[in-house]
Amino acid sequence: PQVIFSGIQPTGVPHIGNYLGALQQWAKLQNEASPKTTLLFSIVDLHAITVNQNPRQLRNACHQMLAALLAVGLDSKRSIIFFQSDVDAHEKLMWILSCRAQMGNLSRMTQWKACLAHRSKLNLSDNAPPVEALLNTELELGLYSYPVLQAADVLVHRATHVPVGHDQAQHLEFARKCARTFNHRYGTIFQLPETILSPAKRVMSLTQPHLKMSKSHQDPRSRILISDSTEEIAQKVKTALTDSVSGVSYDPVKRPGVSNLIEIMHHFRADGASCKDIARDCENLTMRAFKEQVAKCIDEHLFEIRQRYEELMGKEKEGYLREVAESGAVRARESAAETMHLVWDAVGLGGFQ
Ligand code: ATP
Ligand code: MG
Repeated sequence: PQVIFSGIQPTGVPHIGNYLGALQQWAKLQNEASPKTTLLFSIVDLHAITVNQNPRQLRNACHQMLAALLAVGLDSKRSIIFFQSDVDAHEKLMWILSCRAQMGNLSRMTQWKACLAHRSKLNLSDNAPPVEALLNTELELGLYSYPVLQAADVLVHRATHVPVGHDQAQHLEFARKCARTFNHRYGTIFQLPETILSPAKRVMSLTQPHLKMSKSHQDPRSRILISDSTEEIAQKVKTALTDSVSGVSYDPVKRPGVSNLIEIMHHFRADGASCKDIARDCENLTMRAFKEQVAKCIDEHLFEIRQRYEELMGKEKEGYLREVAESGAVRARESAAETMHLVWDAVGLGGFQ
């Protein structure tokens, strides 16, 4: 039977990159899945603490994320929606996988290398020396080793399919490697999970279109949140970095900013118009008029999601969110316990079990 698993970090309200690259796909998979398919969607709070978090803000971000998942159309009766830290087996399996995981693989992760290159997520002060000088001293372990936890997230539920954005494809390749290594050493327990990439693989930042849009980038104008108001959307699109070439054309290499806006419009429009079609339709528009159209298109799509999100974040829905999280945790623990039973047996853990 199919088991679909994916996760999102509670590092802020999801942006349209998360939505187009992951959440929209999750809802679609849920709505089209056969009744036999198990679906699990986790708010991966243990991953969020790889960067410095204020505890109260983290809690709040967790609640926001749960509301967001429900607002985009996940149904807690159909899908198991849970907080990662509510299910201990994730960390237990991580340790077991860590004992066989190779540091060479982790050092080659593009995300890790990007963090080193841009000094992002490293929790360094501005006047800290170059990262090369810090490799064996101040750099923290979590950000480096979290792909092993991610592998455990997926494998502990013996997922067969994992819908993610392009930035996570390499980590999933690593998860398959962890599974193969384990199976080879201890006997076959894990299926090799397949990656499902959504058509919007990589939505780019509005302010730095060579970087992917990201929840934890410092500049809030770099991303549009699914909770943003009509005015906020208009303002962020208006100040998005484009170029001084006149007119609109689609050329991701020469015109990354404009092309990102075209791609966003392409994904939000339900009429199947390609990026080239959109560029042709908008060819003679001024940048200002084009941006207005982009903003309108995003706003129309997000309108209902935003309304549901606001409703779910209301005081009176707190009890409901808690119930969703509690029942999700119970079901996710059951799913993980089945796997851990096999794992402990295979590895020889659990004393007199
Ligand atoms: P952070 O900056 O804290 O890492 P994030 O925006 O990268 O936040 P994650 O929680 O790491 O979000 O990832 C959640 C999901 O969203 C993953 O499946 C990831 O591949 C996808 N995703 C993240 N950013 C983008 C993007 N710009 N375009 C498409 N998919 C994305
Ligand atoms: Mg990320």
